[in-house]
Amino acid sequence: MLEIKCPYCGPRDEEEFSCGGEAHIARPLSENSLSDKEFADYLFYRDNPRGVFLERWRHAAGCRRWFNVARDTLTHHILEIYPMGAKPVSKAGRAAYNANWRRDSQAEIAAQPASQKTNKTSSAKR
Ligand SMILES: [Zn+2]
Repeated sequence: MLEIKCPYCGPRDEEEFSCGGEAHIARPLSENSLSDKEFADYLFYRDNPRGVFLERWRHAAGCRRWFNVARDTLTHHILEIYPMGAKPVSKAGRAAYNANWRRDSQAEIAAQPASQKTNKTSSAKR
């Protein structure tokens, strides 16, 4: 059983929370520019790593607010809890964020506003 520290309510039992799956999946703003495979990457593919994983959790039986958790899937140790919209600040959390194949996917690039688009080519690691 995990004890999760809700950033708004404090430490609570895992039973009060629901896991929303992988964090940091941005909906493409210009999905029409994506191929079916690239859109399927956004819509269906999720990571299931052995090690540090960035997840969304909701305090369902409490404040009902969402937040992100950096959790080691081997030990269930929670490395970091941080707000929605923010990126992890711990070294392991940042490494997991940057190493995720999604950072270089066309769907992620299409999720950026036009002013922030980079000219990356797809180099997904899958
Ligand atoms: Zn809460």
